[in-house]
Amino acid sequence: MKYDLLIQHGEVVDPGAGLRGLLDVGISGGKIVEVAPALPAGEARRTISARGLLVTPGLIDIHAHIFVNAHDMGGHTDRLCQASGVTTLCDAGSTGSATFAGLRAVIDGHVRTRARAFVNLSAIGIVGTSRGGELSHFPYADPEGCARTIAENPDLAIGVKLRYGPGLVWEYTTEPVKMARRTAATAGVPLMIHITDSPIPLPEILAEMAPGDIVTHCYHGRANGIMGPEKELLLKEVVEAQRHGIIFDCAHGRSHFSFAMIEKALDQGFLPDTISTDLTFTSATKGPVWDLATTMSKLLHFGMSLDDLVLRATAAPAKIMGYEGTVGTLRPGANADIALIERRNGNFELTDSDGKTVTAKERLIARTTIKDGRVTYERPE
Ligand SMILES: [Zn+2]
Repeated sequence: MKYDLLIQHGEVVDPGAGLRGLLDVGISGGKIVEVAPALPAGEARRTISARGLLVTPGLIDIHAHIFVNAHDMGGHTDRLCQASGVTTLCDAGSTGSATFAGLRAVIDGHVRTRARAFVNLSAIGIVGTSRGGELSHFPYADPEGCARTIAENPDLAIGVKLRYGPGLVWEYTTEPVKMARRTAATAGVPLMIHITDSPIPLPEILAEMAPGDIVTHCYHGRANGIMGPEKELLLKEVVEAQRHGIIFDCAHGRSHFSFAMIEKALDQGFLPDTISTDLTFTSATKGPVWDLATTMSKLLHFGMSLDDLVLRATAAPAKIMGYEGTVGTLRPGANADIALIERRNGNFELTDSDGKTVTAKERLIARTTIKDGRVTYERPE
């Protein structure tokens, strides 16, 4: 038999690989071996009909949280990911130098979803935050430990994380950003900065960042976002930064995704470079985030094209995470991580982080999830 699994009659959407149209996908040994029209079903151990469905690379969520007991997805990570077509995720700085070993144990022992992680500049990471932010106390800043943790965990750690916001850093200057950038330079990795409600204007933060660094929560509706003080027009520094290779990630979360900001930003031609959820168990089970497919549905409602959405939830984050060509693509030779997605018509009430709702006419719903050639999820009818 040529194929362990053959996905037939689906609409392949993989803009990162330049694959589009009614194509079959042949899988063998956990890898994609062929993408072409009308592959022979007689050569397959199992076939799955994707008629009427989109066939995309397994989705990649570059900003989620999976460290147990730290406002995370905990033991629910695999179930939540599989049910939404996500086969790869990145923990966005839940842990730092003093707690990373715990995250490593969780991932090695309990998480089957492909995972990588940013390491927090704070030694403790994002824990116990009701008592203060992880860098509100200066001695928790641990640039040496952060760089060392990244060097010691090359298979997992891909970047430095800094949350810059009220009560999150020890001083409201660019000093925490400079320290995080120096740490990223030492480790030779990108820096991801959370910017929601920043006490200093975003251009001051951007000025300290390097191409390849990531601004996360780019559509938050609080102070000092991507728009000017009237929250109407994009800042020219933001447009310039994106042009120079700073990556803008939308990470939905419970307080970072404003429909008003999204509508204005998309109208002015500003798209996120990556689409992510900032998912925790609460935001996945009580909303408003629910899952990555829902976040994509919200952006679809505000006018982003399907191809733009898929690119930013597959090939774009794969590149940042060091998976270019092996994950987030349907190209032959890549790991067979695949999502079958329904583009369902109807009336769907979707809610942003500020409690605003819209009625969308379509919604993306994951129907089948495949990781390394194995079916990990099939949605009940
Ligand atoms: Zn987060």
